[in-house]
Order: sequence, then structure tokens, then C-alpha cells
Amino acid sequence: MTIEENTKAILEELGEVKLVSVTKTVDTDRINQSIKAGATIIGENRVQEFDEKCDCIPPCEKHLIGHLQTNKVRRAVELFDVIQSVDSLKVAEEIDKRAGEIGKVQKVFLQVNIGNEPQKYGFGTDEIADAIKDIRILSNIHVIGLMCIPPYVSAEEARPYFRKMKSIFDELKQENQGNIAIQELSMGMSGDYKVAIEEGATMVRIGSGIFGKRDY
Ligand SMILES: *Cc1c(COP(=O)(O)O)cnc(C)c1O
Repeated sequence: MTIEENTKAILEELGEVKLVSVTKTVDTDRINQSIKAGATIIGENRVQEFDEKCDCIPPCEKHLIGHLQTNKVRRAVELFDVIQSVDSLKVAEEIDKRAGEIGKVQKVFLQVNIGNEPQKYGFGTDEIADAIKDIRILSNIHVIGLMCIPPYVSAEEARPYFRKMKSIFDELKQENQGNIAIQELSMGMSGDYKVAIEEGATMVRIGSGIFGKRDY
């Protein structure tokens, strides 16, 4: 299957659920094939890699989905429509500051460490509610969604994590007011997106399922 065929088949299967075409390590020619086939959102993991490619990518919505270092925030705010990987209050505050400097309101998702894994980025499941209270006062960021990467297990074993994430999503939507306007739930990748959708994902992030195995 070609990149175009893969993209079209997945878009058809997803219906209302949004697709983020994950383009880390993928060259611009192949990215453009996915966009030509109908992909409207691309997801990149690293600011610098995207900075080198972005001039050759046609208009589309650009999402950052990888961990963001503080010293890269200024450029990330210039480049990305949405930063899905806001994983600490410190990063949120830096985004707020840099967005303010260029007169932008930055759309973000908050990343939840749904398995509470020590080595993983994201707000813990019992930290996220308090984090939202702190983020509420950051007027240059607009929280429009939640993102998670469950522990590295089979799709069926990931199901309880997706289910827990959906219940956190439903709970936090009660906080919607002012700059908190949570409406997207970004979860599910090539290996487990079907399960994620069954459990309530509104957006999935698919890389290898479109572009094939990554060549690092
Ligand atoms: C790489 C990546 C994906 C896509 O992974 P695939 O298994 O190739 O679909 C999704 N989300 C994040 C955060 C990633 O880093």
C-alpha cells in the first residue's frame, strides 16, 4: 500500500475521529503524499526536525506531540498551531510567557501520564486537576484537549488505561470556562487506535500505519 492509500483508508475508517499524521523521521515528499490524500493535521516530535522541514510542507494544522524542552519553547510557539505535549506547569508557564511576547494565544493539550510511570512525561492522574487550577491564570494559553501515551503493552491491555483517560476527560470538561475549553481527547497510535476509539478518543496519532516502519 502507498502512503496515499494508507491515508485514505484510515481517514475513511476514522469517520468523525480526527487523524494526526505522525511525521517524525519522514521526509517532506512523503509527508506531502499524506496531505494530498486528505490528511489535514501533522504531528512532529521534535522542534528542530520540524523547523528544518516546515518550509516544504503545504498548509495544514501542525501539532507538536513530543516532549518540549524549555529552551525550545519560543520556537515551538512560532511554529505550531497546537502543542499537545504540555507535560509540566513549568512548560505551560514558559509557553504562556513566549506566546505573550508575540501576541499569540497558544492552543495546547495537557499530557497525562495515564499509567503513572516514573520514566514518562506528563501530569500524574492525581496531579492533573490541580494543574488545571494553576493553568487557568495563564491567559496566553488556551487548553483545548488532553493527550496520553499509555504504557507499552498490547492494544487490549491498553484498554483500561484508555478507559481511565476517558473518565478523567469527562471529569475535567466540567472545568471548562475561560481559557480551559477541553474538547479533544488525543489517544491511540498505529497499534491500538481502534481500541482507543472504542474507549472514546476524538483524535488518534498514526505514524507507521501510514508511512511504514520508521528509519532512525
Ligand atoms: C511516534 C508517535 C506516535 C505514532 O506512533 P506509531 O506507532 O508509528 O503510529 C504517536 N504519538 C506519539 C507521541 C509519538 O511519539
